[in-house]
Amino acid sequence: MTAQATDSSIHTPAGSPHFHFKDGALHAEAVSLQKLGQDLGTPLYVYSRAALATAFNAYKEAIGTRDVLVCFGMKANSNLAVLKEFARLGSGFDIVSGGELARVLAAGANPSKVVFSGVGKQVWEMRAALDAGVKCFNVESIPELKRLSAVATEMGQSAAVSLRVNPDVDAKTHPYISTGLKENKFGIAIEEAPAAYALAASLPGISVVGVDCHIGSQITEVDPYLDALDKLLKLIDELKTKGIILKHLDIGGGLGIKYDDETPLAPKVLLDKVFAQLQARGYAELQLVMEPGRSLVGNAGVMLTTVQYLKHTEARNFAIVDAAMNDLMRPALYEAWHGVLPVVPNSGANAPATTLYDVVGPVCESADWLARGRQMALNEGEIIAIESAGAYGFVMAGNYNSRTRPAEVMVDGDKYHVIRQRETFEDLIRGESCLP
Ligand SMILES: *Cc1c(COP(=O)(O)O)cnc(C)c1O
Repeated sequence: MTAQATDSSIHTPAGSPHFHFKDGALHAEAVSLQKLGQDLGTPLYVYSRAALATAFNAYKEAIGTRDVLVCFGMKANSNLAVLKEFARLGSGFDIVSGGELARVLAAGANPSKVVFSGVGKQVWEMRAALDAGVKCFNVESIPELKRLSAVATEMGQSAAVSLRVNPDVDAKTHPYISTGLKENKFGIAIEEAPAAYALAASLPGISVVGVDCHIGSQITEVDPYLDALDKLLKLIDELKTKGIILKHLDIGGGLGIKYDDETPLAPKVLLDKVFAQLQARGYAELQLVMEPGRSLVGNAGVMLTTVQYLKHTEARNFAIVDAAMNDLMRPALYEAWHGVLPVVPNSGANAPATTLYDVVGPVCESADWLARGRQMALNEGEIIAIESAGAYGFVMAGNYNSRTRPAEVMVDGDKYHVIRQRETFEDLIRGESCLP
C-alpha cells in the first residue's frame, strides 16, 4: 500500500467529510475526538450520524424513482442505534442469523423489508423468520431448500424464496472476502440453478420469488457485478421458458470504501450500468434488491485508542496502544490497512521526532497489530484515531485476554450519545460459575 511511507500524522481523514480537522483537532461533526476520548475513555468506537445518512442517501439518490430495495448488510455494524437510523431512512436489512433478526425487530424495522441470507440456517431461525414475516429467504443449498419446505409446511405457511446463485466470477478482492467463486461455500452453482429452481417450484411450502448473488466485499470495479448480472439474467431467461417467473433480482452488497488510496465504486455508477443492462434485456420491471454493508457504515466510524508506551527496539519502533486485535480484528484477520491519525497532531518546535511506527495492542499474539510502518510524531498518552472502522469493527470484537469490549458512541451535530456502554468485569464473567 502506497501511503505506508508517508507521514500519516497530517493526512486528511479518509472517506468522509464528517470527520475533519478544526483548530488543529480532529472532529466528528462538531465534536472534538480528543474530548470524547477523554470523557468516555478509550478504546472507543465513534460514529457520525450525518455520515450514515450521507452514505444511505448516496444510494437513495442513485436509485431515484426506480424500484430498488436497499437491505443494509447488517453484519457490518449491528448496533441498535445504527439499525434504527437506517430503518428511519427507509432501509431494509439483510440478516444472516436469528440473532440479527432479533436485532432488527428490536430496532422496530419492518420485517417485510428483511432478506435472510446465510449457508447454515437452523430450524429455529427459519421458524422465527417465518413468524416475523420476512420478505424472503436467500436459500444457499438444496438441503436448506428441503428443510425450509418442511418447516414452512409444518407451520402451515409458505416461505418466499430466492436462490442464492454462485455465478463463479472473480470479485478481484481479498480471498477471505471473495464469495462468488466456485470454490467458495456460498450459494448454488449457476449450472445447477435451473434444476434447483425446478425443485423449489415443486416443493410444498415454498414460493419462488427471486434470485440472489453476493460476490464479495470491498469491490472497487464494476465489471464483476456486470459479469454476475449477465449470468443471472441468462438464468432468468431460462427459467422463464419453464414458466418460473421471478419478481426480484438481488445483486448483493460488496461496494468498497476508501481506506487508503482506493477509488470506491459509487452506487450511482453501479446502478446506472445495472439498469442499462436490465432495460436492454427486457427486465426493467424486475425489482432490484441490494445488500450493501461496508459502504453504508465503513467510513462513518473511527476507533479511538490511547498510546500507552513508545517502545524502540533495534528492528522496529512500536506504539503500544490500549486497543488490540480483539477490538478491531480486520488487520489481524485480513492484513487490512486502516489510516491512523493523531486526534491532535503534534507540530512545532516541541513536537517529538517523526518516527516509523508499528501500532500494536497489548494482546499476547504477534498478529495483534492495527497498523504497520507509519510515520508519526507521537507522545505517550495521546489519543489516535484508527480510521474507517465503522464496518466489521465492533461487530467482530471479542474478549480475548479477558479484555472488555469498547464503548460505542454516536455523534449528532454538537451532541453525542453513548449507544453501547463499555463492558465491565461483571459482564466478562456473567454466566460463568465454579464447581461446588
Ligand atoms: C456480508 C454480506 C453483505 C454485505 O457485504 P458488504 O461487502 O459489507 O457490502 C451482503 N450480503 C451478504 C449475503 C453478505 O454475506
